[in-house]
Amino acid sequence: MGINSTSSKSFSRLENILIIGNGGRENSLAWVIQKNSKVKKVYLIPGNGGSERINKCERIKIDIRNKNELVEKLDFLKIDLIVIGPEIPLANGLADFLRKKGFKVFGPGKDGAKLECSKSWAKEFMQEANIPTAKYWKVNSLEEAKKIIHSTSIPLVVKADGLASGKGVFIPDSKDECYRAAESIFNGRFGDSGNVVVLEEKIQGPEVSVFALCDGEKYILLPTAQDHKRLNDKDKGPNTGGMGAYSPAPLLKEDYLERIIKEIIEPTINELNKKNIDYKGVIYFGLMITESGPKVIEYNCRFGDPECQTIMPLMDQNFVYLLEKCAMGNLTGDEKICTSNKVSGCVIATSKGYPHQYKKGFPIKIGKIDSRDCQIFDSGTSLGKNGELLTDGGRVLSIVCQDNDFDIAFEKAYKNLKEINFDGIYFRNDIGHQVRKNLSREN
Ligand code: AMP
Repeated sequence: MGINSTSSKSFSRLENILIIGNGGRENSLAWVIQKNSKVKKVYLIPGNGGSERINKCERIKIDIRNKNELVEKLDFLKIDLIVIGPEIPLANGLADFLRKKGFKVFGPGKDGAKLECSKSWAKEFMQEANIPTAKYWKVNSLEEAKKIIHSTSIPLVVKADGLASGKGVFIPDSKDECYRAAESIFNGRFGDSGNVVVLEEKIQGPEVSVFALCDGEKYILLPTAQDHKRLNDKDKGPNTGGMGAYSPAPLLKEDYLERIIKEIIEPTINELNKKNIDYKGVIYFGLMITESGPKVIEYNCRFGDPECQTIMPLMDQNFVYLLEKCAMGNLTGDEKICTSNKVSGCVIATSKGYPHQYKKGFPIKIGKIDSRDCQIFDSGTSLGKNGELLTDGGRVLSIVCQDNDFDIAFEKAYKNLKEINFDGIYFRNDIGHQVRKNLSREN
């Protein structure tokens, strides 16, 4: 059996860490965790083509759905802490299961994961706790949706209730488009995730991401970040999982952040407590700064990608202790987390065709990289028969750089990108435009 979390209240052994997931997010977590000299090994299930380029990292081939085999393996490897990256295993209760088996787990249980996994549940949650968010209607049929679409004069956003790999949100330009979006969701475009639809008032303002590490009661905030969801320069084109990001977000001045803490973050954690949800993990707050104040666009029950790749290089070697403290429920809330005064910028290199259809399996050539304060986290890569690096996803590589100045950080990232090539490589040239003086333009 795993380690009994209740018997180890003080810092315990942290030699073997397991990260579940296969993206850039998980590689950046592995990278920051391995910095700690106490950590001997970081295992990734399944990881990707770039995971084993990271110091101390090893991939494990195992299907996490095969739970008995998983526990046997984790016992054998003497895993001290488990970090679950993606939302699907969290929604399926993997954290609950592993905690019951005695492992220390960073990641909420099935109940907490509902913040992300059901948009209507999250909206009700916010309503009950008086947390500012866009007005909404939960609808169970196309007929119901039609009535609301035609009876309201405010512009609407249409959302599938359940998980839809970041593709379940539609921002229509007309009532007709709005109806067609609802129709496509009810017609099964996202399977059971579309049994319920949320119609939401379309709100306006810049977006910002805030992350709180929670131990069930206490929390600490990571540096803020801003990502770029649209595929093309000037924020044009379809929504993607994220084409790049930067951190911190200067948009959020300290007093405004205080307001967000009072109006959104603390009420969220209090409401979780009120509902007896012992949330041990990260809460992502996707916020919009509107004229009438900050509003929650969405919650995630995991680190955002690519914000995670952007923020992790700003963390020091003690970051793993914070994850452990959350898992054990002993955060003080006063921990100092960020020792770097630098800023960080991340640009994502994608496959041609993403976020729609794209081909995989193209060799990736990486030339002379300036590695000072620069990292390349593989997002969607695999290794070929002879160990060659191949494209294996829509988002392929995250190129991240830090400096005292955003202009220089992004200059380095784009310089490194010139050294990277694969068939169909695509990236935005204006990531961080809001904070790059030499690229300033009207947003
Ligand atoms: P989500 O997956 O909920 O983060 O939505 C994806 C993107 O859709 C967000 O980053 C926003 O840009 C946009 N969005 C979502 N909800 C709204 C809303 N109520 N009003 C305006 N834009 C929204």
